[in-house]
Amino acid sequence: MTAKAKKQFQAPKGTFDILPEDQKYWEKVRKVIKHVAIGYGFERIDTPAIESSDLYALSAGETTDVVEKQMYTFKSRGGDPLTLRPEGTISVMRSFLEHGMQQLPQPVKLYYMAPMFRYEQPQAGRYRQHHQAGFEVLGDQDPIYDAQVIYVCLLAGEELGLKNLSVEINSIGCSKCRPAYRSQLLRYYRSRTAKLCKDCKRRMKKNPLRLLDCKEEKCQQMHVNAPNLIDHLCQECHDHFKLVLEYLDETSIPYVLNSHLVRGFDYYTKTVFEVFLEDEHVEGGSEKSHQRSKLALGGGGRYDNLAKALGGKDVPAVGGSLGMERIIGVMKKQDVKVPTLFKPEVFLIQLGALSKKKSLRLFEDLRKAGIVVAESFGKDSIKAQLRSADRLGVKISLILGQKEAIDGVVLLREMDSGVQESVELEKIIKVVKDRLKK
Ligand code: AMP
Repeated sequence: MTAKAKKQFQAPKGTFDILPEDQKYWEKVRKVIKHVAIGYGFERIDTPAIESSDLYALSAGETTDVVEKQMYTFKSRGGDPLTLRPEGTISVMRSFLEHGMQQLPQPVKLYYMAPMFRYEQPQAGRYRQHHQAGFEVLGDQDPIYDAQVIYVCLLAGEELGLKNLSVEINSIGCSKCRPAYRSQLLRYYRSRTAKLCKDCKRRMKKNPLRLLDCKEEKCQQMHVNAPNLIDHLCQECHDHFKLVLEYLDETSIPYVLNSHLVRGFDYYTKTVFEVFLEDEHVEGGSEKSHQRSKLALGGGGRYDNLAKALGGKDVPAVGGSLGMERIIGVMKKQDVKVPTLFKPEVFLIQLGALSKKKSLRLFEDLRKAGIVVAESFGKDSIKAQLRSADRLGVKISLILGQKEAIDGVVLLREMDSGVQESVELEKIIKVVKDRLKK
């Protein structure tokens, strides 16, 4: 074996394995998302993890960080430019148009749970492969759906047992009102260009709205006094936003207006929102100070122009998504209890060649009857098998020895008392079920 072949492989940077001990959290998140989605009339959609690269160039805007720097783009062997999906909305709209879903009764409500790929600098809560659960309402411009999507995103978090969630919301207007605001924004920043970071200088030329989204501290200080988009909305956007807020007022959602909220993709129009976890840290030793920090768990907004950008007709739409890894991180931090996935009630012990053969069948009979059974068929000693049974905390062990196999019986051992009795094989399912009920 060469030195190279002995290399210890690891998951690629920024990716990770979801190991069995963590699956219970994933299972719980999937279950709750599905439950909330179906309850609100969303149907499941799955799209491929790869899309044509042009799709993103056309729809996400060339000046977004994701499109500029974070896409995994490659050429297929046939020479087609492909991209590993960095987000879900564009694929859903592509699918909606491709399959003529405009012909269905509108709106079409779809949800997904899928891995996303972004070439980012990995850090806590930021990975190169992460999963998002998203809800999209396509084919309706009514602001009640903006409110519903926001509500559903928050509801999913709450049903998962998360505390301290909040929503920030803004309207970024439409192609009618944005140009005038854009000019105002440019006027404001032009006199301050020298103080902006390199990315923002570029944003000034290509997409000034994104200046507000810069995370650099020196730029953020400048945003404080920048003109507000909300003050420059056209009548239609203003009325739309007002109604979204009125609908939200009817729910118990704790939302906050943030006039500087813009999202990472250019396809958004009108409503944009983000779901945050408000966290309180206690810092310092003797002089403890409480600091609040915000973790983005999800976000979304309205994207009435996306369909047109993809060459389709007008399809007003609104959607939102949640980062599943971050949600699970918070569940663990907030000590949300989730049921263990494999909790056996019965352990099947076999002793000798004949009983080993028979135990496969007995195991299946028990499983079919809905009894969760465990085994360690590879072990032959009763001591070792009883030890495994003990470790799993089962209530009952069934012991199938050579003599029992010949006589057509099985020994039922109550693990707590150690009391054993012989039960006919034909009756064992019923007896076990009765005992488990007690
Ligand atoms: P975005 O559309 O970029 O706001 O992403 C929606 C949500 O997905 C975010 O609020 C995060 O919770 C999550 N998310 C986005 N990017 C990543 C990443 N690189 N790693 C883990 N989670 C992410």
